[in-house]
Amino acid sequence: MSQRPALGPGAEFDAIRSMVARLGVSATGIGDDAAVITVPRGERIVASVDSHVDGIHFRRAWLTPREIGRRATVAALSDLAAMAALPLGVLTALEVPNEWQDDMTEIAAGIGDAVDESGTRVVGGNTGRGPVLAINTCVIGHAFTPLYRSGVRSGDVVYVTGRLGGPQDAVREWLRGREASPLSRDRFVRPRARVHEARWLAAAGASAAIDLSDGLVADLQHLAVASGIRLRVDLERIPCIDGVSSREAVASGEEYELIVTSSRPFDIETFRDRFGVELTAIGHASSGDADVELLDRGERVAPPPGHDHFSS
Ligand SMILES: [Mg+2]
Repeated sequence: MSQRPALGPGAEFDAIRSMVARLGVSATGIGDDAAVITVPRGERIVASVDSHVDGIHFRRAWLTPREIGRRATVAALSDLAAMAALPLGVLTALEVPNEWQDDMTEIAAGIGDAVDESGTRVVGGNTGRGPVLAINTCVIGHAFTPLYRSGVRSGDVVYVTGRLGGPQDAVREWLRGREASPLSRDRFVRPRARVHEARWLAAAGASAAIDLSDGLVADLQHLAVASGIRLRVDLERIPCIDGVSSREAVASGEEYELIVTSSRPFDIETFRDRFGVELTAIGHASSGDADVELLDRGERVAPPPGHDHFSS
């Protein structure tokens, strides 16, 4: 149920009141000194924190305040998805410069969009002044058996959700002063935290997972090192969005898709029907030095440089 936080008078508290009002039923338990979260008995807490900073993760010209709030929150929730954890609540700390003061309620609306999509609530937060807009998001979730990066075994198949390449393509176009294609813009502006998809994949026998934030090759390297295993990926099997090559797609970061491994094949048709998202087998794991091999029609090729904010 929506509520008015019990706060005293003052401009800062007015801003919090307006944000909480904008969040409506997407916020709960706001107004005490700390959030109280009920954890299902026998489950483990899974928690993460993430920062989204103006000029580093986004630029004001590219997104509306609502989109900025949503994207920052999705990025944090995506780390829970990577662990196959269900979110229990989100805490958001905002550092707000003067020129963003009037946008705080719309940023709150975007945070509300993200928590609604993932079936969770804002349970606390903080606001203060800062030199640039920064949205720091703490996510708390639960899982009985979390998925780790270290679970890949020899013979496992490597899968990825969605189609890759959009975010990097959009940023590159914007940096060149051009319009991004609607598809690429949408992938940058409206990523989804694959929370429900990850639970399905974990229940179907996934051995390990990571969310795609640094670029496919870079994130596969994290998996390879954590699991002490060799991962081999075929470039021609990479699902790319229209207009993006597979070489570009494997370097695109901030996708917030999932890389998942499994010793048993997933039912990719059922997955697609259920979530409206593709699930694609792109390679496999084999014993050997912890490394990622990228194959182009059977020939090993050098991986492209990993994702670096706005470096493209
Ligand atoms: Mg991550």
